[in-house]
Amino acid sequence: MSCKSWGRYPKTTETIKRLTWSTEPLPANGDDKLLPYGMGRSYGDVCLNNCGTLLVTTALDHILAFDEQIGLLRCESGISLDEVLRFLVPRGWFLPTTPGTKFVTLGGAIANDIHGKNHHHSGTFGCHVTRFELLRSNGERFICSREKNPEWFAATIGGLGLTGLITWAEFKVRRIANSFIEMESIKFRDLDEFFAITKESDQDYEYTVSWQDCLAKAKTLGRGIFMRGNHAKAGAPDLSLHPKPGITVPFDFPSIALNQVSIKLFNTLYYARLRRRLTKSIVHYNPFFYPLDSINKWNRIYGSRGFFQYQFVVPFSEDNRAIRAILKEISESGQASFLAVLKTFGDIRSPGLLSFPMPGVTLALDFPNRGEESFVLFEKLDRLVIEAGGRIYPAKDARMSAATFQASYPQWKKLIQYIDPAFSSSFWRRVAL
Ligand SMILES: Cc1cc2nc3c(=O)[nH]c(=O)nc-3n(C[C@H](O)[C@H](O)[C@H](O)COP(=O)(O)OP(=O)(O)OC[C@H]3O[C@@H](n4cnc5c(N)ncnc54)[C@H](O)[C@@H]3O)c2cc1C
Repeated sequence: MSCKSWGRYPKTTETIKRLTWSTEPLPANGDDKLLPYGMGRSYGDVCLNNCGTLLVTTALDHILAFDEQIGLLRCESGISLDEVLRFLVPRGWFLPTTPGTKFVTLGGAIANDIHGKNHHHSGTFGCHVTRFELLRSNGERFICSREKNPEWFAATIGGLGLTGLITWAEFKVRRIANSFIEMESIKFRDLDEFFAITKESDQDYEYTVSWQDCLAKAKTLGRGIFMRGNHAKAGAPDLSLHPKPGITVPFDFPSIALNQVSIKLFNTLYYARLRRRLTKSIVHYNPFFYPLDSINKWNRIYGSRGFFQYQFVVPFSEDNRAIRAILKEISESGQASFLAVLKTFGDIRSPGLLSFPMPGVTLALDFPNRGEESFVLFEKLDRLVIEAGGRIYPAKDARMSAATFQASYPQWKKLIQYIDPAFSSSFWRRVAL
């Protein structure tokens, strides 16, 4: 079995150890460095450990307890959010927040303190975790919560898998009446309109997110489609999972398949597909939250060299100058792909020490790996992000410099005292050592 990250960059070699029981001790031996590995849905190297050992958790997938009175679920950490939904939805419950794929583990969701389309409403995943067990390489086990070992609780939420292995976790879930989302799609012409729609939506819509045309220039710079929604209340209760057989990308696409012409064509057609400014629909939660999950191995469309996802957040400002400057740089480079997601974060604080979100605007874009050309662009973008007081998301990163990381996460030094001496990652060695 080989373990990769979703962006398939960098290429690393690890010893793979599949964990079978959450009661067994960790295989710590001398100098070998360990790192937990969930489903490898991180894009870069937070889930990689070159020349070390990866502890694959996906067999730790049991549901341990569910309190249906208050909506509190306890599971082993290797369970996927897909499996959690298969348990919850037919009972009328849903995840407190979810990323854009359900193929991530509970442990991975906590270690990267993931966020979803409802960050402005519900904060990060870590905000809903009530407690977990942390297993250290010396065999010690701690229960961590806001009350018990709170400093370990904070260090492990967003702790990038470095503080030990989360064996199980307990978290709050939310009620739903059915499996559907009442959704509205609104075309916006530029960034001003994006911010205006965000302002009018944040109060009344639990979920907001936008697709952004990253090749649009000049007057149309920043144009896109705003999507907002709430869990449907009315209608017949239908708590189905609607699992559809997915299609699979059968091989690595040649690198010329995605070029500026094909991406521009896609963006133009995608933007034009909505005839009216506002379209209302009722959709199942699967296409609303997980549109890419129906295409297995879609990361192959970027070819065998892999790709990068660049996700940053910059704080709000009067004129939102930073996000405009970054969008202009990206659009002029012509390098980004059609997958570009724009969203604002709210001000709900995560308990996590190293959590990524902050109040501001976040943009996530895919870039095919074009070697030096890509790196030069990212360094320009890094400078703009840092100057604006923002930061880059470790879960998506494969290349930011130590200086960039340390400038934007000044709390990184506090994490050091909680890192398990037998644990490390390719990411951490790059940005902190
Ligand atoms: C299509 C797609 C959409 C995405 N959308 C979003 C999004 O909207 N929002 C968002 O925040 N993220 C998003 N992501 C990123 C993804 O949610 C995170 O990278 C997530 O952490 C991946 O979980 P995983 O189980 O695959 O963990 P991995 O990628 O395998 O590991 C991630 C980290 O968790 C640690 N870890 C894993 N298990 C444990 C454990 N049991 N104990 C301690 N540490 C552990 C690892 O050491 C590593 O540091 C997306 C990814 C994809 C591919």
